[in-house]
Amino acid sequence: MNEKTTSPAVIDELVTGLNLLARNLWWTWNQDAQDIFHELSPRGWQNLYHNAVAILHEVSDYELRVRLMDGDFARRVRMVLEQFEAYLAERRTWASEHAPGFRQHPVAYFSAEFGFHETLPIAAGGLGVLAGDHAKSASDLGLGFVGISLFYREGYFMQEINGDNWQTEYFSLLNPRNLPLEPVLDARGEPVITTVKIATAVVAFRAWRVNVGRVPVYLLDANLPDNEPHYRDLTARVYGGDSTTRIMQEILLGVGGVRLLRKLGISPSVFHMNEGHAAFLTLELVREKVAQGQGLKEAMAATREECLFTTHTPVAAGHDRFTSDLVHYAGNKFLSQLKLSHEELMGLGRIDPADAQEPFCMTVLALKLSRAANAVSELHGEVSREMWKPLYAARKGGARTASAAAVPIGHITNGVHVLGWMKGTVRRYWRNRLGSGWDKDVNQAEFWARLADPGFISDEELWSLRYLLRRELLEFTRRRLLLQGHRVTQKDFIAFDHLLNPDALTIGFARRFATYKRAPLVFQHFEQIVKLAHDRQRPIQFVYAGKAHPRDDEGKRFIQHIIHLSKYSELKGHLVFIENYDIHVARQMVSGCDVWLNNPRRPLEASGTSGMKALLHGCLNLSILDGWWREAYDGRNGFAIGVDDHPDSVEEQDRRDSENLYRVLTEEVIPCFYNRDAQGIPRQWLGKIRHAMAGLVPRFSTWRMLQQYTQEYYLPRKPAE
Ligand SMILES: *Cc1c(COP(=O)(O)O)cnc(C)c1O
Repeated sequence: MNEKTTSPAVIDELVTGLNLLARNLWWTWNQDAQDIFHELSPRGWQNLYHNAVAILHEVSDYELRVRLMDGDFARRVRMVLEQFEAYLAERRTWASEHAPGFRQHPVAYFSAEFGFHETLPIAAGGLGVLAGDHAKSASDLGLGFVGISLFYREGYFMQEINGDNWQTEYFSLLNPRNLPLEPVLDARGEPVITTVKIATAVVAFRAWRVNVGRVPVYLLDANLPDNEPHYRDLTARVYGGDSTTRIMQEILLGVGGVRLLRKLGISPSVFHMNEGHAAFLTLELVREKVAQGQGLKEAMAATREECLFTTHTPVAAGHDRFTSDLVHYAGNKFLSQLKLSHEELMGLGRIDPADAQEPFCMTVLALKLSRAANAVSELHGEVSREMWKPLYAARKGGARTASAAAVPIGHITNGVHVLGWMKGTVRRYWRNRLGSGWDKDVNQAEFWARLADPGFISDEELWSLRYLLRRELLEFTRRRLLLQGHRVTQKDFIAFDHLLNPDALTIGFARRFATYKRAPLVFQHFEQIVKLAHDRQRPIQFVYAGKAHPRDDEGKRFIQHIIHLSKYSELKGHLVFIENYDIHVARQMVSGCDVWLNNPRRPLEASGTSGMKALLHGCLNLSILDGWWREAYDGRNGFAIGVDDHPDSVEEQDRRDSENLYRVLTEEVIPCFYNRDAQGIPRQWLGKIRHAMAGLVPRFSTWRMLQQYTQEYYLPRKPAE
C-alpha cells in the first residue's frame, strides 16, 4: 500500500482488526501492537492504565477512521495485524511436532487466579502471575490448552496507606465492557448458563472468555440476577471473605469449571490443578463416571489418570483446610451424588482417613487423586516430599513408617514469560538493534548467549541502557509518590524532584509482605545502612513495594515500619515505598533497579519469580539461596546471602542472614558496582550482568518450563483418539 491515504474499505478492515487485537492479550507481549494503542492516545494510555479496549472507547469511531486515513499510520497498523493473524494461524509450532494430540483434547489448567496484565487485576501474587505466564507460553508453543478461573468483578484489593502509615484496602468495580473479555454465548447469542449445587442453593454462573494469543481462558462469574445476593457475591473478590466463601469459591471453580468445559464441548485429556484450590474438580470427574455407571473405585482410578497437581508452598497456612461441618454444609448437595458416606469423603482430604479430628485438606485431595504431582523448584521438591511423607507412609506391623524418597512429588522450576515481562524500553532496544521480527527467537539460548560478546553489545551500550532504565524508574517513582501523597504542598513538589539519586546503586524489594519474606531485614543494621546511603562516593538507595494480606497485621507493621523510615528517619530521600504493588509497578521496579533483593526465611520461598523478571533487564539478584536462586547462582551471576543450608532456629537464622546480607552488600555488591575504570565504566559489574543474562534467561522462562511440563507430565498419558 503506497498511497498516502487509505480507502474506506481498507479502513473498515483495519478498524475491525484493531478491535479484535485489543481483545486478545497477544498485544501485551508485542511492542509494535502496544505502540499503536499508545499512539492513539498517549494520555489515555497513561490514565487508562495501558488498557487497549478502553483506548478504543476513548477514541471515537470517527476519530479512529480519520487517523487511519493517514497512509503511514494505516500501513503500520496493517503490519501489526498481519503479524497477529500470522501468529494465530501458525501451524508449525513446537507442540505441533512434540505434542500434537492436545489440539483435539487440550490440557485444562485450573487456577484460582491468573495475572495477565495490570488492566485485569484478578491475581493476588506470584501464583496468579505464574498461571498467566503459563497460558502465554502455551499459546506461543502452540499447545492445546484451556484455562479456567473465576471472574472477580472487584478484583484483588488496592492498597492505600493512611495517615498512620497503615495499609488500608479498597476495591474498584471492573467493567467487562472495558476489558479484554468476551461473553461466552450460545448459538442464539444468549449467555451460556451452567449450575452447581452449593450449600442449600443451585448457583448459576456465566463465563467470560479471555483470549491469550491462541488459547482461551474462561472466567466463571456467579453475578447473575437469579442467584441470591449471597451467591452473587461469591465471585466478587480474589480469595474474598471467610473460609465459607472460600470453600464455595473452590466448589464453583473445580466443579463449575469441569461443567463449563463439558457444555462447550471441550474434552480435555489432562486436568492440571495449579495449587489445591481447584481440587474439587477431581470429585466432579468421579461423579461423572459414577453417573455413567462406573463403580466408585474404578471411577477414582480413571480420574487419577487424568489429573495432575502442582503444589506451590511449604508454608502450612498456604494449604486450604476445611472442617468437617463446613465440608458438609457447603458440599453435601453436590457430594451426596458421589455415593460416598460423609466420613469416606472426609477421608479423601485427610492424611489419616480414620482421624475424625483431621480437617479436610485440599492439597491432600489433590495428591490422592492425581497421577503425578510436582513442586516448583528443586529445593521445594525436597521440602514437599518431607512435608507430605506421612501421607505415603506404609503401614508395617501397625506402625507407619515414612521415607521422603518414596513420596511421588517431583519438581519443575518456575519461569517467566520473557516477552511479556520485558519492559517496552528494552523491547524497543532490541528492535532497533536487530530489526523487526527480532522477537522470534527470544526464547532461544543463542539469543541470550550474544550478551556474553562485547563485540555484539559493548559495555558502554549496556551501561547506557542500565542508566536509562534506572532513570525511568526514578521518574516513575517520583510521579507515583506525588500521586500517593495526601495533602501535597508546593514544597513537596520540589522535594519529590530530588527524591532518589540517579547515580546511586538502587536496591529493589517488592513482593507480598508475608512475614517469612522479612521485608525489613536489611534495616536491622540501621546505623550502618544510613552511613552507606549517605556515602558521597558510593551511595545506595532503596525502592520498596508490596501488599500485606488484609488480615496480616504483622505484615502491615512491616509496611508501616518501612514507610516510617522513608518519611522520618535519616533514610528519607534514600528509601521510598511505592503503594499498590501490581504487575505494572513490578515491571518498573525489576527493570530500573540495579539489585533485586530477596531475603526469605529458608526454605519457605517455594520458587520466587520476580528475580527472573529482573534478569531480563540486567538487574542482578542478591538473594538467600532459596527457591529458584539456589539452582541459578553460580558464584558469578549475582550475589548470594549465606550458604546452601540453614539453621533450625528461626532466631538464629534471622541473625545470621542479616549479618550475611550486610557483609555481602558491603564487601561484594557495593565495591563491584562502584569499581569504575578510567572511562567510568563498571566493567566487572557489567561482566556479571552479561553472564547472568546469557546463562539464566533461557533457563528460567515459561517457554522452557512448559516444554518440561508437556514432556514430563502432560504427555505420558496418550491423548485419547
Ligand atoms: C512476579 C510477581 C510476584 C511474584 O514475585 P515473587 O518473587 O515470587 O515474590 C508477585 N506479585 C507481582 C505483581 C508480580 O509481578
